[in-house]
Amino acid sequence: MLKHPRTGQPFDSPVPPGSGWPGDPASPDTVQAADAEQVARLADQVESIDELDALISVCRACPRLVSWREQVAVAKRKSFAGQPYWGRPVPGWGAPKPKIVVVGLAPAANGANRTGRMFTGDRSGDQLYAALYRAGLVNQPTSVDAADGLSTKKIRIVAPVRCAPPGNSPTTTERNTCAPWIDAEWRLIAPHVRVLVALGGFAWQIALRMAADQLPKPKPKFGHGAVAELSPTLRLLGCYHPSQQNMFTGRLTPAMLDDVFGQAAQLAGLSG
Ligand code: SF4
Repeated sequence: MLKHPRTGQPFDSPVPPGSGWPGDPASPDTVQAADAEQVARLADQVESIDELDALISVCRACPRLVSWREQVAVAKRKSFAGQPYWGRPVPGWGAPKPKIVVVGLAPAANGANRTGRMFTGDRSGDQLYAALYRAGLVNQPTSVDAADGLSTKKIRIVAPVRCAPPGNSPTTTERNTCAPWIDAEWRLIAPHVRVLVALGGFAWQIALRMAADQLPKPKPKFGHGAVAELSPTLRLLGCYHPSQQNMFTGRLTPAMLDDVFGQAAQLAGLSG
């Protein structure tokens, strides 16, 4: 067992459900979905965000992804060799009644798969949370681990695939298997949401599909800074993904992130 870098509590990797990891929504009794059919059934029945987070965090429906996330949790990146790894699916993070929802892709193997929290512990997350802080949407500019005090009442961050995939590439089957989780999340939070921010073209497609009953024609196209009105009360904003490559090459800059999240805050009635 290794000690959590902030709390000092020792954990196995992957972390057993309900063993005291900061923010772990599950208990040892939380039902584990074993295949696509069970994901669909459990997601369809879920009635609260807390329950949904717990179910997602113990899901084992995609054999290849379960194996990969747990292998990474045991092998660990050299720089994190002294830390326990979460090694489980990563549920959505943030407010249960958000005005703004950020749609990402999938957890990073040594980021969220290590810390157990969306975009936490990797370079993309460093850029994203710093921008969210500058826009007044989270309480601190850094996101290091799940016990660092980060909080928000304004936003929620979700992803269409909840387990770290090899090569950052989930298969179509894995995406389809995981889809009921994000659909259930949208069902529970949609009444509160005024703005969706899609991080990249794939997230844009996911966001359009989530809000499909309100889809305008022609189908809006992704672009950085693109704005689509999905209904009189719901807008979708496009933003390049704050990946290391996009930031390093200058395709996406902190100022560009500020423009998107400043606009999102304004459209959601959260600025000023
Ligand atoms: S990717 Fe989604 S459906 Fe597949 S095991 Fe992870 S949480 Fe479950």
